[in-house]
Amino acid sequence: MDRREFLKTTQALLATIFGSSFFSIEELDAMETSENKPDLIWIHAMSCDGCSTSFLNAEIPLVDILSRFVNIVFHPTVMAAEGRLSMEILKKYEDTQNDLILIVEGAIPSKELPHACMMGEEFIRDTIVNTARKASLAIAAGTCASFLGICDMKGMHIDAVSLKKCLEEESVDTPVVNLPACPLKPNHLLYTLFYYIKNRKTPPVDLMHRPLRFFGNTVHERCVYYNDFQEKIFAKRIGDRGCLFKLGCQGPVTKCDCIKSGNDYDKYNCIKSGHPCIGCASENFPRNILFKRADDERKLEKYKDFKRI
Ligand code: SF4
Ligand code: SF4
Repeated sequence: MDRREFLKTTQALLATIFGSSFFSIEELDAMETSENKPDLIWIHAMSCDGCSTSFLNAEIPLVDILSRFVNIVFHPTVMAAEGRLSMEILKKYEDTQNDLILIVEGAIPSKELPHACMMGEEFIRDTIVNTARKASLAIAAGTCASFLGICDMKGMHIDAVSLKKCLEEESVDTPVVNLPACPLKPNHLLYTLFYYIKNRKTPPVDLMHRPLRFFGNTVHERCVYYNDFQEKIFAKRIGDRGCLFKLGCQGPVTKCDCIKSGNDYDKYNCIKSGHPCIGCASENFPRNILFKRADDERKLEKYKDFKRI
């Protein structure tokens, strides 16, 4: 692929996320050749690495595209260095003054139990806090980093905090953008990164620090079964036609753009696959009972006036 073709492909990809005219070819050209590209450090805390896997497994090689617009300094999965050598990269980086974006995947151990997660011979909490102090933007990738998610489910005895809470505890005022979903949705991350690269500021966020572009509405408000919900046509079993509310769908209480996001997830989202939303992007995920059946008519009343988007 020649350079012009690469820029056109990138522009087309970003147009599906930002809307048609957010980036011109000339702008992308300037961003790609800029000498002031931000650096990127991506750290895995207490996570299953699913968010990295989600990003790296996208149909288009997003990491290749991203690497032309930021300097990827540290990512445990894609960098060649390992062991002591990889820790030296972070050590050397301490004196660098470049513009830095920090991405954290997974929850972070509490102040009281920092040894719950180590990287090299250091508490990962210290590594994250020290890196965040230098960063202009900190991104919590996925539900664990944003709201604890699986790390805080019933039966887990892990004393952990979210990225935002950790930085507040350590008086680090770097702005945090939360990108909840289990796993992370690659288009959410690309949007946040490219918005920052272009504007050198965070995208507009809601009170929970999530980009408004993706988290302004519930799954329910955009759902393909919205009309079925209003008409009270409910699926009785997974695979039946109709709204999945009575099978425990949590779309009405989960804010995310899973449906109508204009990308692969539009084709492959949970509900279109016939499965109720389990609220993976919610601040309450995972609930104690994921699929509690909702036979109570009063619950239907509660959501029936939600508008269709
Ligand atoms: S309850 Fe679930 S399946 Fe039914 S309309 Fe809402 S989001 Fe869609
Ligand atoms: S539909 Fe629900 S469970 Fe599925 S990805 Fe979206 S928020 Fe997560």
